[in-house]
Amino acid sequence: MLRELTGKIGARVSGSPQAAAAVQWGKRTLESKGFANVHLETVMVPHWVRGKGERAMLISPNKARKVPLSILALGGSPATPTGGITAEVIEVHSLDEVKELGEKVKGKIVFYNRPMNPTFPSTFDAYGDAGDQRFSGPAVAAKAGASAVLVRSLTFALDDVPHTGATVLAKGGPNVPSAAVSTIGANLLSEKLKQSPNIRVQLTLNCQTLPDVESANVVGEIVGSELPGEVIVVGGHLDSWDVGQGAHDDGAGVVQSIEAVSLMKRLGLRPKRTVRVVLFMDEENGGRGAAGYAAAPRPGEKCIAGMESDSGGFAPRGFGVDGKPEVVNNIARWAYLLETIGADKIAPGGADADVEPLIAKGAVGIGLIPESQRYFDYHHSHSDTIDKVNPRELELGAIAMSILLYVIAQEGV
Ligand SMILES: [Zn+2]
Repeated sequence: MLRELTGKIGARVSGSPQAAAAVQWGKRTLESKGFANVHLETVMVPHWVRGKGERAMLISPNKARKVPLSILALGGSPATPTGGITAEVIEVHSLDEVKELGEKVKGKIVFYNRPMNPTFPSTFDAYGDAGDQRFSGPAVAAKAGASAVLVRSLTFALDDVPHTGATVLAKGGPNVPSAAVSTIGANLLSEKLKQSPNIRVQLTLNCQTLPDVESANVVGEIVGSELPGEVIVVGGHLDSWDVGQGAHDDGAGVVQSIEAVSLMKRLGLRPKRTVRVVLFMDEENGGRGAAGYAAAPRPGEKCIAGMESDSGGFAPRGFGVDGKPEVVNNIARWAYLLETIGADKIAPGGADADVEPLIAKGAVGIGLIPESQRYFDYHHSHSDTIDKVNPRELELGAIAMSILLYVIAQEGV
């Protein structure tokens, strides 16, 4: 399944023809696995396109030569004017620093260069800790009068691969062209700035935000034998960023969710409660699929739990559970069933964006926690391709999900 999704369709950012193909693929796949009630639930999604020819050139003071920096525009970024923006660069390490600099950032390219903190054992914690630079940094710099923003890629890998991702645009503006720069590029830029603070960068981005497009979540299920109105949702997100193949993020979670439920069918297990696969659209670019699914009226049913796999297709280590302490403890009772495959760590917290709206409506959120050390080497970049996914690790994750889903479908939360 992952070979089809990544190989035949590839990168599939919200609103793109590839995302539309992924929806059709999802529907066909759920039907071919014999799921019940397979259907699409439409949602309107943003349609941002990168455009061709984006680049950043470091211009040395004597203008003798230009050195290219590897960049990727951040999702949702506006374009630069034709010919790009050429400006001096000011390096910062926090959003507060931009606010303190005040007037000094006017007209400059603000360069956020605080690396992910390597002392966090979980790379997701390091990502969360450094992520404000990408999520909020551009809007903060724009408000302070910056002309553009460069952000150090959120990865521990020291290489020349830039990592894109969402940035939160200021409603009503101002918003400025914003791009992620590779860690090697960031180090180079920082070094050059120390040598000559007046160095300039020419940034050219050709992104466009087009009108919203109709897209869909893909839904299919096994109807519960005794309590069909009690539903356990399991899913990943069908969309990805527009580079690489979206193999770990989140092709892995999509195929694991399908496989986890398909395994029950192949074993002839009919759960007491309904187990429903939802392939969410638009996680990366706005979360419209998750919001749309949770907001839809579903008379006579109650979603008791939402399980998500959106942390990569690496070897499973356990699950994070978002719920009351007694619920976390209840679910942790089943850890022994996951011991054989080493996925028996069940801890509070850790459910992800697509189940958040379900948690807000009272469901227990559950997130698969895989080994995290290599995820951000590939995340949101040209490197997120299927050759980075180990089939056995991917399958073990699906098995772990299947075990926990089935026991919850039998015993409740
Ligand atoms: Zn994801």
